[in-house]
Amino acid sequence: SKSAGRSCYTMYDDAMSAELEARNTLEGDLRDAIAQCQFEVHYQPFYDAETRERRGVEALVRWRHPVKGLVPPDKFIPLAESTGLIVPLGEWIIGRVCDDATAWPDDVKVAVNLSPVQFKQSELFDVIQSALARSGLDPKRLEIEITESVLLERAAENESFIDRLKGLGISLALDDFGTGYSSLRSLTAFPFNKIKIDKSFVANLSVRDESAAVISSVVTLARGLGIQITAEGVETEEQLAQLRALGVNFAQGYLLGRPMPVEQLEQHLDIARAS
Ligand code: C2E
Ligand code: CA
Ligand code: CA
Ligand code: CA
Repeated sequence: SKSAGRSCYTMYDDAMSAELEARNTLEGDLRDAIAQCQFEVHYQPFYDAETRERRGVEALVRWRHPVKGLVPPDKFIPLAESTGLIVPLGEWIIGRVCDDATAWPDDVKVAVNLSPVQFKQSELFDVIQSALARSGLDPKRLEIEITESVLLERAAENESFIDRLKGLGISLALDDFGTGYSSLRSLTAFPFNKIKIDKSFVANLSVRDESAAVISSVVTLARGLGIQITAEGVETEEQLAQLRALGVNFAQGYLLGRPMPVEQLEQHLDIARAS
C-alpha cells in the first residue's frame, strides 16, 4: 500500500537514545512483518450475560515475531499508529476478519477495533466496503469498535463517515467506556449500537461500590438511548452474577473465553466450518 511509505520517522540526532534505537529496530521489524504477513487475528467470544448463549467475537491482532514469539498489540499498535503502518495492517485485519467470519453461522457477529489513525483515512470506507463485498459477509454481522478519542477531532467528517458505515448495515460500539472524558456527549452525538464498559470497572466491582453505581447508571442511560451494553474483563462467576443483576446485556472475559486462534475458536464455539 502507498500509505505504508508515509513514515513519521525521518531523522535522528547522533545521540540517539537507547529507547529510540529500540523503537527504530521495532519499526523496521514491523515493516518487514507487514511485508511478510507475520500477523494473526485471534478471536475472543462474547456471550449473552443472562443465557450465556454465544453472540459473537472480537478480533484482536497478534504479531508472530520470528524471534520474540507472540507479541501482544499493546507492544506494537502504538508504533503502528505513530508510523502510519496501522493503515496497511488494519486493511489486512479487516480482510482477514471478513474472510474468517463468512465461514461461521449467521448468528455470530464479529467486532473489529479501529484506531483513530485509521479513522482519519478517507480510504477506510472503501476498504471496509470492498472487504465485505469480496468476502460476501453480511454487513449486519460486522461491528466496528472505536474509542472516544476517535470522536474528539474532526467531528463533522466523523459524523458523515459513521453515517455511511451505518448505511451499509454495520453496527458501532463505543470501546473502553468510562476511561475518556466526554462520554455523555459522544453517546448522544453518534449513533452507537453498543457500549463496552471498560474492564477496570468490572475489576473494581467487589472492591469499590462506586463501580456498581457507575455501571448501573450507564445501564439506565443506555436503555434510554436504545443502546446495548457489554462488560469487558469478566473473570469470575461473582462478577458475572453482579453484572447480570445490574442489567448488562453481554459479557466478555477470561471466565467465558480468552482470545484464541481461529481454529481453536471454531472448536470452542462448536462451529463447523462451511468450507
Ligand atoms: P481492547 O479493544 O479494549 O481489547 C480488550 C483487551 O482485554 C484485549 O487485550 C483482551 O485480550 C483483554 N482481555 C479480554 N478479557 C480479559 C479479562 O478477562 N481480563 C483481562 N485482564 N483482560 C482481558 P489485547 O488483545 O492485548 O488488546 C489490547 C488492545 O490492543 C485492545 O484493547 C485494542 O485497543 C488494541 N487492539 C487489539 N487488536 C487490535 C486491532 O486489530 N486493531 C487496532 N486498531 N487495535 C487493536
Ligand atoms: Ca475492543
Ligand atoms: Ca475495550
Ligand atoms: Ca483498549
